[in-house]
Amino acid sequence: ATPTAVMVATGKGASQGVLIKGGDALEKAHKVKTVVFDKTGTLTIGKPAVVSAVLFSSYSMEEFCDLATAAEVNSEHPIAKAVVEHAKRLRRKFGASTDHNAEVKDFEVHPGAGVSGKVGEKVVLVGNRKLMQASNVPIGREVQDYISENEQKARSCVLVAIDGKIAGAFAVTDPVKPEAGRVISFLHSMGISSIMVTGDNWATAEAISKQVGIQNVFAETDPVGKADKINKIKDLQMDGTVVAMVGDGINDSPALVAADVGMAIGAGTDVAIEAADIVLIKSNLEDVITAIHLSRKTMSRIR
Ligand code: ADP
Ligand code: MG
Repeated sequence: ATPTAVMVATGKGASQGVLIKGGDALEKAHKVKTVVFDKTGTLTIGKPAVVSAVLFSSYSMEEFCDLATAAEVNSEHPIAKAVVEHAKRLRRKFGASTDHNAEVKDFEVHPGAGVSGKVGEKVVLVGNRKLMQASNVPIGREVQDYISENEQKARSCVLVAIDGKIAGAFAVTDPVKPEAGRVISFLHSMGISSIMVTGDNWATAEAISKQVGIQNVFAETDPVGKADKINKIKDLQMDGTVVAMVGDGINDSPALVAADVGMAIGAGTDVAIEAADIVLIKSNLEDVITAIHLSRKTMSRIR
């Protein structure tokens, strides 16, 4: 496309809330044959909420929530925010006058898994099964049943281990965006296939993919794994067609870079927005199609 055509399309995109960072992305987008979607915050609203909490130990619910909050309060992950919010609500219900929480030491983020830290003398881990397995925290039958039961309902479980034992868990739900199903089926009608790549567990991932009609799912994938998947898909498409990735998180950045066309959700993290070629300012998945259409129009004009 000529510089003028690129400028016109970029301006048009901007006015529609599709920020195209360069001519390259604009020229590639019309050849997209596969769109890879992140799950949390991309296909889903990204504002998970705790819908249940359960204890597998003799801690009081209040103490349990306090310890979990102390570990999660420094995390930017939406799940962490849900846990902190839930604990806050509980405190108010119990009539506590403050939201004050214990301090955490040795705080660590485990991408795609959770967080850890020391609260007083207690070692606290908050995250998924993978995090617990990596730290050799055994998951008993009772815990496993709670996890399975919730995952089948497309809920994720947040496990909390205190001093090497599962002390309790939260079930978290994050509804899909209202336009998600419509966008996926429209892409399919354009001959574009859909894939989900998520750090979340298989059962939740499959439940969500069914809700939105996504054809292929890869779950329990860490940030590097997401980029690897993109590269594998690119290898399979040798006919010059291109792969787009849509994501919102720090964990999506390597994949956004690896993709031919990286699209970041506007409400996503700065790192993802920087890594992407196109930013969907309104965070609306319809704009994946807007971007492809803009590219198609621009490229057909010059031929
Ligand atoms: P996604 O690919 O769905 O956006 P992430 O890669 O960000 O998900 O995280 C994958 C999984 O890791 C989450 O579904 C959750 O189980 C766990 N996780 C990550 N960070 C946290 C956290 N701060 N607290 C609890 N769980 C977490
Ligand atoms: Mg995400």
